Amino acid sequence: MSRHALVVNSGSSSIKFQLVDPSKDATEPPYVSGLVERIGEDNGTIVLKVGGEKIEVTEPISDHADGLDKAFKLMDDNGCGPHSVEIAAVGHRVVHGGKLFSKPQLIDDQIVEMIRDLIPLAPLHNPANIVGIEEARKLLPDVPHVAVFDTGFFHDMPPAAALYPINAEVAAKHDIRRYGFHGTSHEYVSGQVPELLGKDPREVNQITLHLGNGASAAAVRGGLAVDTSMGLTPLAGLMMGTRTGDIDPGIIFHLYRQGMSIDEIDNLCNRQSGLKGVSGVNDFRILQERMDDNDPDAWAAYQMYVHQLRRYIGSYMLILGRLDAITFTAGVGENHVGIRRDSMAELENFGIKIDPERNAGPNDGPRLISADDSTVKVFVVPTNEELAIAQYAMAYAH
Ligand code: ADP
Repeated sequence: MSRHALVVNSGSSSIKFQLVDPSKDATEPPYVSGLVERIGEDNGTIVLKVGGEKIEVTEPISDHADGLDKAFKLMDDNGCGPHSVEIAAVGHRVVHGGKLFSKPQLIDDQIVEMIRDLIPLAPLHNPANIVGIEEARKLLPDVPHVAVFDTGFFHDMPPAAALYPINAEVAAKHDIRRYGFHGTSHEYVSGQVPELLGKDPREVNQITLHLGNGASAAAVRGGLAVDTSMGLTPLAGLMMGTRTGDIDPGIIFHLYRQGMSIDEIDNLCNRQSGLKGVSGVNDFRILQERMDDNDPDAWAAYQMYVHQLRRYIGSYMLILGRLDAITFTAGVGENHVGIRRDSMAELENFGIKIDPERNAGPNDGPRLISADDSTVKVFVVPTNEELAIAQYAMAYAH
């Protein structure tokens, strides 16, 4: 029987999980995927996908422990739970590794405490990650549990990119620096590019663009991240579904002085801005429908999104000096033909030329979308953070 890794992504009111056989091809769907939602509410749901089948149960889920327990039971009832499948390791997505963690860590009590110490830097995410870790360790006490950090890939960025030009004493006291996020995705995707280019990974300079609900760009030299668009928090950088991305920080002081509370401004910038704030919708598919209907707000949001993307691509080209590849990934990057076309338009002078037919091709695995005479190669590489986490976790399996 093949050995699986359980990948757990525990959020504040939901838990996503997958059972992955890391030895399988990345394009194969996971053996099992599931979602526990509305934890703490009477109408909690557990959705389980096994093969092509979808099983959905609605029942009260009191807390994360109850949610995981019920999910495991549902998996067992369907022949794919801890009692029927060999789970050799558990990989946990942890959002913030702060200055402490650059690499995945085998979890013990001390590591949990260290993740707890980072809560001030990720007050919404790390507590939920810790609950997931603690409950999964109780339910599966005999297998290794491994924490994989969203920030890890960016831990060793050069100081000039990682540090903010803010008062050094304050920065040191409050651990203020650019941490970056989506690191597992940028590392996974950028890790595939050298092979697609047929080059030694140490010689490849590249830009990766993770465009999902959240969005970030990374500059990668020889396999090491040298810059990224997200910062102390995942609010910085590119315009996103509901987040502002980069704005003048003075806007926050101004709104505060105009009478908005800090929590209201936080909510405004994280949840009511970006594509949604400008156009009313955050889903790119609906945005596209509105653009097709000539909705001016949808067009304005789209043009801002493209502009911000080009701003980062341009600056990373200069930071890298020589550029071999640009790669698009995640929901928007993998699926939206127009975003790739428009963010790469009229860059022939910089050696970047998209092939329209390749760009419009199906999203069925890593593929080249630039023209043969484009000196910078442009790729679409589907991200698979769960597979990456499963591979890290499996490295610790007995
Ligand atoms: P997350 O950051 O939540 O992991 P995803 O990577 O799944 O997000 O990306 C979600 C976004 O991808 C959605 O907002 C949606 O707009 C966009 N998306 C997904 N499929 C398509 C598609 N076929 N065409 C255009 N956009 C898409």
